[in-house]
Amino acid sequence: MSQRSDSVRIDEFTYFRGRVALAALLKAAGVKAGNRVALQAFTCVAVPEAVLSVGAVPVYVDTETDSFNMDPADLVQKLAPGTTALVIQHTFGIPANLGRLLPVAHDRALPVIEDCAHTITSSLDGRPVGTFGVGSFYSFEAGKPLVAGIGGSAQVNDPRLRERLDADYQGYVAPPILTQLQILATLVGYKTTYRPAAYWTVRAAFRWLAAAGVLKGNYNAVDASTRPATDFRRKLGGLQLLALRRELARLDRISIVNQRFRHPRPPRGTDPVDGRYPLTPLDKGRLLEQARSARVELADFYATAVHPLAGDQLRRVAYERGSCPNAEVLAQRVVSLPTGPRVGPRDVARSVDLLNSFTT
Ligand SMILES: *Cc1c(COP(=O)(O)O)cnc(C)c1O
Repeated sequence: MSQRSDSVRIDEFTYFRGRVALAALLKAAGVKAGNRVALQAFTCVAVPEAVLSVGAVPVYVDTETDSFNMDPADLVQKLAPGTTALVIQHTFGIPANLGRLLPVAHDRALPVIEDCAHTITSSLDGRPVGTFGVGSFYSFEAGKPLVAGIGGSAQVNDPRLRERLDADYQGYVAPPILTQLQILATLVGYKTTYRPAAYWTVRAAFRWLAAAGVLKGNYNAVDASTRPATDFRRKLGGLQLLALRRELARLDRISIVNQRFRHPRPPRGTDPVDGRYPLTPLDKGRLLEQARSARVELADFYATAVHPLAGDQLRRVAYERGSCPNAEVLAQRVVSLPTGPRVGPRDVARSVDLLNSFTT
């Protein structure tokens, strides 16, 4: 993992959110209005929102039957003329099947941007994820491996892309100090209250405060009136950058604890480190209920193909129901346990107890 801290700088091009970093990378990679951008279903609304913000159209690729990541065969099927970039997500920190995905992109000269929102330190054949594409991006909101309140960053591996990103970056402004303070207050609230055993209570409190407009929620509706374009011209606030650098200095602690977990069926040669620990129980609803009453942290995302959008809302991000059947089934089935520095041996024991006593 030390390779990550040595060779990769994720605090160089910092943005208001992960989706803002992705939008900046897409522009720098030459994506124009009307182009298509391929991305996987079983993702967060932040990803298509970034694509839509540059005027491009998201094209959804299904997940593999036995993993949480993009299916190379479906990628080939879904690529149409006008596709100008590919976003490869390393879901839950498990490296995607890059051995098969990258050749598809190279054959068609598609720039690849890696979605590293769930991982800082995973690697594939000893090489850190985030270094395979022309660029990659990170997210620092609650629930991600490094939490700075809200925030994101871009990492660039291609010199020409770097030049363009750098030029574009000059136009970004920090959020007003009041917004920065609000995000900082959210971070302090999160850090002082969140423990895996307090997950359900903290989640309810945060959702309530977000609905009341007191703090910034993770998910925003894709709606031009409530989602001003100004967010997409914002960089990370100075206060959030300080929080991020403080977290980066503690990166070692994150990996050590996470290695207690074995992730399910990672591709050969991968070394998944952080993210979350996904499970697909027979009865998701019931396991979530039992976790809630046992006060064991268990997250239900992604619960739809483009979380948290459901039903007709999916059309707003150009997702056609039935177009990615594996991802839709996965979303109905998956839950995940937390990993990270806050998860101690007792939390692990309680999670294991819950799973052992799970009855359907
Ligand atoms: C969290 C997340 C993002 C970015 O989220 P922001 O809220 O914009 O920081 C992007 N992709 C995935 C898969 C995510 O989970």
